[in-house]
Amino acid sequence: MPNWFWLISVAIYGGCIGSFLNVVIYRLPEGKSLVSPGSRCPSCGHELAWYDNVPVLAWLWLRGKCRSCKAPISIQYPIVEALTALMFMGLFWAYYMQPFGVSPLRPQFFHQGLSQTWPVLIVHLVLLAGLFAATVIDAKLFIIPRSIPWTLTLVAAIILPLAVWYGSTPLVIGLIPISPPKGTCGAAGGLIGVGLSLILLKLMILPLSFADYEKLYEAHAAEQGANAKSGEDSKPEDWFHYPHARREVIKEMAFLALPIAGMMIGIWLGPSGAVNWPWWLLVLGGVGFGYLVGAGLVWMTRILGSLAFGKEAMGLGDVHLLAAIGAVLGPAETVPVFFIAPFFGLAAAMLMFGLSAVLKKRFQPIPYGPYLAGAAVVVMVWRQPIMGFLRPLMENFDTLFLVYLKGLG
Ligand SMILES: [Zn+2]
Repeated sequence: MPNWFWLISVAIYGGCIGSFLNVVIYRLPEGKSLVSPGSRCPSCGHELAWYDNVPVLAWLWLRGKCRSCKAPISIQYPIVEALTALMFMGLFWAYYMQPFGVSPLRPQFFHQGLSQTWPVLIVHLVLLAGLFAATVIDAKLFIIPRSIPWTLTLVAAIILPLAVWYGSTPLVIGLIPISPPKGTCGAAGGLIGVGLSLILLKLMILPLSFADYEKLYEAHAAEQGANAKSGEDSKPEDWFHYPHARREVIKEMAFLALPIAGMMIGIWLGPSGAVNWPWWLLVLGGVGFGYLVGAGLVWMTRILGSLAFGKEAMGLGDVHLLAAIGAVLGPAETVPVFFIAPFFGLAAAMLMFGLSAVLKKRFQPIPYGPYLAGAAVVVMVWRQPIMGFLRPLMENFDTLFLVYLKGLG
């Protein structure tokens, strides 16, 4: 099959996934089921037939109105569907074709071809879809439903090791997260630590941080409501800031003590020489290690930022999001994602500053999740030059792995 055939197929697939993402974006924050009931008109409850669900086209031929009650259907539906189709196509184009000149952007995908790498492509498309849904929800509601990063992590932890276990291809560094045995043991130790901390949290031996957040937030919102009624302007400075952030992040440091200790013990006890461990286990180790690196980077920033500025810096939703990105892309790739994200923030801040000067209108601040998502896409597409730039880091990582391979051979 020529790549063009697959490019179109991926676009159609993307449209259908986009249709599902619309459901995710509307129902997930409200805690409703994603499967039942089927799609229906929000104003009259008219159930949609399959042909009214065709991505983008259905909205066009219904002219944006419900078939039975003629209530307008939000243009967000076809936009999300079209954008998902375009993004899926773009990723396929970047991975398997030669978009900008002669050398392929992702040689590992390009040279091994779709027949060898399709499971990895599927995991990356799922990541793209999840990041898109998280971005839209975060931008609208300032939350990232935990089920999105958890799903992404689970998909990576199941499909990537399976692809290696089942496939006959030798692994290529730079395609799948992979970790030498020491790192795999470190990931296992760290994750055991997370589990233990969660149990201690449930048993209330460890304190829950920001436990009174909701209560204080509601008080703040009520006060805002009163202000709005009395005719006072609600300014961006009134944005809710949790008042005891410094005190609360110290509780979070207690939560992190066990995972950090577990990781260190794992790395210390893990074998440094050659061991005949199966590939899938090392890939699972890479997924776990990437998860911990992603979570650790954001959580560290959150703690340091909150201690320094006395207000909550970066939400726990961002911790989960970068953890999931790390699980899919790998531990080394997570580092540039983390450092590219602030540039998206800067660009957005400048854009808003310009727009508010021209339009004389205040804009809501944008949460951090969309910047992490944008940075992840940059690293997915331009992994090769970015990791080349980070050569010292990568060489260390690759050398560790090559030493291990030599020992095996
Ligand atoms: Zn209707």
